[in-house]
Amino acid sequence: MTEYSASTAYKAFFLGLEFFPCGKTSWKTWAPAKCKIHIWLAMQRRIWTADRMLQHDMQSHSNCPLCEQAPETADHLALGCVLAREVWHATLQRCNLSHLTPLAGDMLIEWWPDSRRRVPQQLRKGFDSLVLLMVWTLWKERNNLVFERSAETARGICKRIT
Ligand SMILES: [Zn+2]
Repeated sequence: MTEYSASTAYKAFFLGLEFFPCGKTSWKTWAPAKCKIHIWLAMQRRIWTADRMLQHDMQSHSNCPLCEQAPETADHLALGCVLAREVWHATLQRCNLSHLTPLAGDMLIEWWPDSRRRVPQQLRKGFDSLVLLMVWTLWKERNNLVFERSAETARGICKRIT
């Protein structure tokens, strides 16, 4: 039987990073560790979004709590949701990178590596850090809405990020 400990979990985490697109990249960003772990789980669709809850019979629908227009998946919440795209556009515009604003069907595992290649080398670490913070902020905002019933507008989220 395998013994699990904090040390084996830590090693498994780093082993996972090796084999994941942008795994090592995420570790080099300026974002806090909780954001690095969150994006790693989100890229593997292992966060508890509505679609996953439905699959596990933990709730009866998969609607996105932010837009109520599409099923909530990890990719939808991080990139494709109307609210997410509004926040991404406003934030990327301030960095002259609005052409990288995600589209409705984008997947984190493709969009992030593709987008970072289009950012000048000297700005990549900043861009990667922004991606982690944005994905984390959207997740926190979603949780505020689901658990605290307090919804913020896209403008409110942008204000906190910038
Ligand atoms: Zn949505």
